[in-house]
Amino acid sequence: MQALVTEPGVAHSTRVEEIEPPDGGGVRLRMLEVGVCGTDREISEGLFGIPPDGRATLVLGHEALAVVDRDGHGFTRGDLVTATVRRSCGHCLACGEGAPDSCLTGDYSERGITRLDGFARELVSEDPAQLIPVPGSLGRLGVLAEPASICARAIRHARTIGGRQPWELRRALVIGAGAIGVLSTVLLRLDGVEVWTAALEPSNELVEGTGAHYVSTVDTPLSELGRFDLVVEAAGSAQLMAASLGLLRRSGVACLLGIDPRKQTVELDGPTLALDTILENRVLFGSVNAQRRDWLAAVAALDRARERWPEALERFVGLRVPLDRFAEAFAYRGGKATLVLS
Ligand SMILES: [Zn+2]
Ligand SMILES: [Zn+2]
Repeated sequence: MQALVTEPGVAHSTRVEEIEPPDGGGVRLRMLEVGVCGTDREISEGLFGIPPDGRATLVLGHEALAVVDRDGHGFTRGDLVTATVRRSCGHCLACGEGAPDSCLTGDYSERGITRLDGFARELVSEDPAQLIPVPGSLGRLGVLAEPASICARAIRHARTIGGRQPWELRRALVIGAGAIGVLSTVLLRLDGVEVWTAALEPSNELVEGTGAHYVSTVDTPLSELGRFDLVVEAAGSAQLMAASLGLLRRSGVACLLGIDPRKQTVELDGPTLALDTILENRVLFGSVNAQRRDWLAAVAALDRARERWPEALERFVGLRVPLDRFAEAFAYRGGKATLVLS
């Protein structure tokens, strides 16, 4: 069967290759669609990723939508499912409690990223405990479950952190309008939060379609938008991450989701850090990955979003191509691109 494979550490080694089908164990899945994102691009550029033990190649793909191919383990042929990405390290407190997103050793594995083959192939055998049911009503939009789970986890943590003291999440700023920025906007709007989403592009129909305010940072600096109970940085700019602390109201929480690995020094206003953050009980924190409950929450939220803003989400998945056109999907910048497997 066909798979999208890469040699981690070797730039431009990504290719479609014939591999052996899975040999049973777990639930057999027929993959429908796999979303691509910056992580896939980075692995493909040789910057990231670890192959399974004893191998040079890794099957890519961690944003899965599949259909159950054979009855078993409580699943029925035809069920739509997605699957978690990060798996237990097997020897830490967090993983032992079902929270590999908080793994304390870093020895976890991740489908399509670290030590575990991904989903960009025709058939996968998956551990039933890692499967997340996708309602039929959500259909192909189930492919957004993985990025939405990242946002659901981040917002859950922000609410927990903010909620350690009397606090209300009324006004939020989302910086960045890629998949994580847009889906964070969608989740916060479903909760009735007043959301401002800021990015470089002149406009964003999906963001505006959810009743959020879209701001082009080319015309309007973030400092002119007032202050926020929550700031979500999803643009991947270390400088904006530092600046987010200064955009918070009293007891405000800033959550960092974008990644910026560039070696650099960023500026942070002294009194913002060493005066306002203390006197106003502000918090800046990072969030990665998601656990089962976030996946369940994400899938449920996507289904509500589809009901509420039907065309918007459909338009957000802007490019669907077959596996051999992966380069087009990797180059796509207009929303979410996916690889269609069947
Ligand atoms: Zn991704
Ligand atoms: Zn662990």
